[in-house]
Amino acid sequence: MGGFGCNLSRPNTSAAGPYWPASGGRGVRFWLDPWLLPVPLGIRFPALFAIKASPSSLVAENFRDGIWNPLFRRAFNEVEASELQSLMGALPAALSEGKDVASWLLLPSGEFSVSSAYKALFQGPARPWSGPLWEAPLPLSICIFVWQLLRDRLPSGVEVSKRNDPGDGRCPLCGTPESCTHIMFSCSAAQFLWNFVWEALGPTWQAQELEEFLQAQANRTGGGRRLFWLLFAALSWTLWNVRNKMVIERIFPTRASDSVFSLLAFLQQWSPLVRLRDRPTFKSSLRTLRAAALPFAAPSSTLAPSPTP
Ligand SMILES: [Zn+2]
Repeated sequence: MGGFGCNLSRPNTSAAGPYWPASGGRGVRFWLDPWLLPVPLGIRFPALFAIKASPSSLVAENFRDGIWNPLFRRAFNEVEASELQSLMGALPAALSEGKDVASWLLLPSGEFSVSSAYKALFQGPARPWSGPLWEAPLPLSICIFVWQLLRDRLPSGVEVSKRNDPGDGRCPLCGTPESCTHIMFSCSAAQFLWNFVWEALGPTWQAQELEEFLQAQANRTGGGRRLFWLLFAALSWTLWNVRNKMVIERIFPTRASDSVFSLLAFLQQWSPLVRLRDRPTFKSSLRTLRAAALPFAAPSSTLAPSPTP
């Protein structure tokens, strides 16, 4: 790893220190300016920098739809995937909307420190089973989204309220503290969708405890594992979109079944990415899910999925 180790003990690490953009990322270049670490990200992550889509993109341009979404010219090899994991671990969970000032969520004060960046990079929770996520047939932005989810790095209500942002940090549907696990698993909207998948695809999709479930599924082999990540990503991305609509746009789902059709639409949208040899299994699962969704279809139901970023 190495590369910036000698800079870690530099004393000037306050929020007003030299590495943090005062303008919230609108005047600061993501790869070329030293905004997150003492060195520019392009230097710290050379393999990624070699395949970035736009060298001079601004920090704010790489944060869209509530997630980090830097663009690259092609899919990753192993070295690049490993660098991306480190990069995603180091990025703050969110850019603040109101004040347009980035804030660092790893410390309760919201202040950036190099030691908290170091911890995020090298001492994150070990989840070796999540490695195969990068082989899944998914758009890169969705891989990154799931990676952030597994690291508990999505800007959920609980995370955002730590920064003293407006909002009470509670789920608008259930009134309980809105953690990532709540959004993806215990929220009533999530339970509905999980139950649908479980009833359609059988007991392998019955999850009592999210982390245990993920670990068991991710230990499957070959095509089964790739398709597991595909479906899990579609499920999570659907729930995150439902949540964002409620929290950000204040639009509540009118029919619980809307999320089911949204899930199917994402699977359809990503289906060209499925490897040839996995396609028969994928198509069979998709047919089963569609058949299970038929009873929900209202005559006037026209549901367009949100575009994949
Ligand atoms: Zn809820």
